[in-house]
Amino acid sequence: MLAAILDPKRLPTAPAIALQVVNAASQPDCESAEIVALLALDSALCGKLLRAVNSCIYGLQQPIASVARAVHVLGLSTVRSLALGLSLPAVKIGRDADQATRDYWMSSVGGAIIARELAVLTRRSNPDDDLVAGLLRDLGELLLRQTYPDAWAKHVAYYGDGLIEDPCGAELTSFGIDHADITAEILQQWKLPADIVEPIRYHHHPAAVKAGGLVQLNRAELLEFANYLVQLDRVAQNPELLARVLSTAKDQFHLPRPALIAFLQAVAEKIEAFAAVLNQDIGQCPDYASILAAGAAELVNLTVESSRNRMSGNVSASAAGHSTGTSRSATYIPSPENASPQPVHRTTNSLPEFQFQFAEQLPEGGCRFGSYELCSLIGRGAMGVVFKACEPSLNRFVAIKMLAPEVAASPVARQRFAREARVAASIQHENVVGIHAVGETAGVAYLAMEYIRGNCLNTQIEQHGPMPVLMAVSASRQIAAGLAAAHAKQVIHRDIKPANILLEKETGRVWISDFGLARGVDDVTMTVDGALIGTPYFMAPETIQGQGSDARSDLFGLGGVMYHMVTGHAPFPERTVAAVLNAVCSREPIPPARLRPALPDWLDSMILRLLHKNPAARYPDASSVAAILGKCC
Ligand code: ATP
Repeated sequence: MLAAILDPKRLPTAPAIALQVVNAASQPDCESAEIVALLALDSALCGKLLRAVNSCIYGLQQPIASVARAVHVLGLSTVRSLALGLSLPAVKIGRDADQATRDYWMSSVGGAIIARELAVLTRRSNPDDDLVAGLLRDLGELLLRQTYPDAWAKHVAYYGDGLIEDPCGAELTSFGIDHADITAEILQQWKLPADIVEPIRYHHHPAAVKAGGLVQLNRAELLEFANYLVQLDRVAQNPELLARVLSTAKDQFHLPRPALIAFLQAVAEKIEAFAAVLNQDIGQCPDYASILAAGAAELVNLTVESSRNRMSGNVSASAAGHSTGTSRSATYIPSPENASPQPVHRTTNSLPEFQFQFAEQLPEGGCRFGSYELCSLIGRGAMGVVFKACEPSLNRFVAIKMLAPEVAASPVARQRFAREARVAASIQHENVVGIHAVGETAGVAYLAMEYIRGNCLNTQIEQHGPMPVLMAVSASRQIAAGLAAAHAKQVIHRDIKPANILLEKETGRVWISDFGLARGVDDVTMTVDGALIGTPYFMAPETIQGQGSDARSDLFGLGGVMYHMVTGHAPFPERTVAAVLNAVCSREPIPPARLRPALPDWLDSMILRLLHKNPAARYPDASSVAAILGKCC
């Protein structure tokens, strides 16, 4: 059976350059120039290596532009492991990858990053070898499945969720061989070091590691634990297993429940960043990063949820007894391997307090900002700057928008910011970004709102071009529904534009942001030479002409956004403010169907009607637009 599975015709090709790098880097007298020269033979690998190094995994402050510099900064052993890890997946999957293959990659990459981060946290000697072992560990499962697709389907149907506890035992019963052994056999053929091969062989039964000492045992345990964490949603279906995982987290990895939650939250971003690097290699599967992000987010949700209500009986007793309370920070300091258990948290006090200059450059590790901890900068707009932040007391991420100092200098602007935030907070709808709080901290006016993981429509379209019609129709319906909810509360957005529409990665849900924070035509900003920065591309003619805005002005904005979604640009794409203002008020847009001939007639007419100069000629209200679109998607 092993011979059939390891049939050279079916086997993935060995990653030749990476294996040479591993060999060379394992020699005691290896020169870094030798590794650089080897890597230079594979430009795709060099590209991936640089992207991985510059992703958030290594947290480097200055991006690295050459492989030679990467070798210098990260060291030979890290580059060796990365080269090997990035030469995978050695099994190509195409665009039409089935769900099971995607699941396989999701758990492989997620588990690998979790393994690496746990190794960093517990100060193990070579976390990047844990990454590689994590990436390679389940190769055998894919081969087993590809070799015996029908038997595999029956096997999965028969064991179902029971597979999570002892997949190797179940495979031995069904096939007479298990995936961990298959993987180890291939890796042995590739002549990978025993410290990678043997932990993989036993990653579902670490206690069976025979020789090889602590390094192999620790790595096998790490892989097993990471494998449970990446499937926490399935683990949670089995309370006994969940209790075991939680107690391993606490006892072996110094991660009591709140620390585990924070760990998973932090790791989710890294999984996404690394997935984006690998994405290039796995058939450009367009949804891959979102699938992973969804998986990682699910871990966080589930863990947060399980800390609130899932725990009961012995699970609750074992986990709750070790709760660290809520006054701890979301930032954790690892304790050294083998050290006696000790508090692993540092308190929020150890983060620096926010200072004005942090709005320009956030310190590494973030800073405290009132009851929040700022984690990273999301972006800047004309009004101010937006940070991703953590609210430790509620274990959630939020987006914090701070009013720019030059805007905040005006008391009127500050009052308006607060007043409009209160208005926006009154809208509660599944397509409107919710406002959690508004206030002032450290002399800075801020707004805390729901954090949406994804892109604004502008970025989405810039990166992927015009949207498929169905997706555009669905997004438009959601925007119209959000607007209808706002209009029902007499709130007008006044600045509906692609930059203010967020597209959530995991769910595809559309969110309207910046409600009530809109600026009037007088706020349009220009550079000295008249080129556009903040633009009136989507502003209604009546707003431009100072005739006042009402709900129908938002419908004009919606028409502009829909035009942008289906054609890839604004309805009046002139280059200067004056030309855009003039065109919006006096010119008819080119019908979108002329730019995109496959566009359905009804959608073309709807967009043009929404963009009508006369507000009365547009649709009567947003809910009727939502209703029409709802029938079409
Ligand atoms: P302007 O303020 O000039 O209209 P803008 O809308 O791009 O421009 P901001 O609203 O300040 O500027 O947003 C800055 C960045 O933050 C944008 O990339 C936006 O997508 C992102 N952002 C805003 N709100 C959120 C949120 N709630 N969750 C996640 N990202 C957000």
